[in-house]
Amino acid sequence: MKTIGLIGGMSWESSAVYYNLINIKVREVLGGFHSCKSIIVSVDFAEIQKLQHSNEWVKLDKMMVALAKQLEDAGAEIVILCTNTMHLCAPAIIKNISIPFFHIAEATGLAIAKRGFKKVALLGTKFTMEKDFYKQYIFDHFGVEVIIPVEDEREDIHRIIYDELVHGKIKNESREIYEQIIRNLAERGAEGVILGCTEIPLLISESDVNIPTFDTTAIHAEKAVEWALTK
Ligand code: GLU
Repeated sequence: MKTIGLIGGMSWESSAVYYNLINIKVREVLGGFHSCKSIIVSVDFAEIQKLQHSNEWVKLDKMMVALAKQLEDAGAEIVILCTNTMHLCAPAIIKNISIPFFHIAEATGLAIAKRGFKKVALLGTKFTMEKDFYKQYIFDHFGVEVIIPVEDEREDIHRIIYDELVHGKIKNESREIYEQIIRNLAERGAEGVILGCTEIPLLISESDVNIPTFDTTAIHAEKAVEWALTK
């Protein structure tokens, strides 16, 4: 088994889920006393959130690169970044480390392609929904069209992530808002919906909505383990 390096803390609410899932998956596959070899480097999210919202992406690139190198130096054999949004920094990370980086949109795209879907919706932070890095990745690598909610809906999704989910607050009224937005996206032709923020699966799951969901936290964690066990 290879050692997985995780960049976490964005937020720790979802990094904790990653840690659980990678260990559950290894136990499922190998059984017995097996657990996942991993190294986690975890940030203070307050620093990250502030830089994101003041558009300091060059500084964030440098921070993410330093964290990935820390993992490489510590003996990690693959790096995963436990957040969708911060994949804006993926090109900088990939350029500066010599171990593989497993992109969350690659993992998600593989899961969508397996279902044969051609048009899906994307929920996430405004950075993830509005910038090109995620939608374009899925389109370029998998030929899948990615649509996003309308502006008011994007505001609600973003607000709920930063005011509630990253603080561990799970509210029924917020779940209902997400459910309605997903119904609207299904009416616009989305065959499935990417839960493209690692905290969103804390709020909603497939049984809450009328189209298939792609839980990026679970998909990313699971495929990273598959890599660690087979490559
Ligand atoms: N974890 C979230 C994501 O997957 C949002 C928090 C962050 O800004 O990193 O995008």
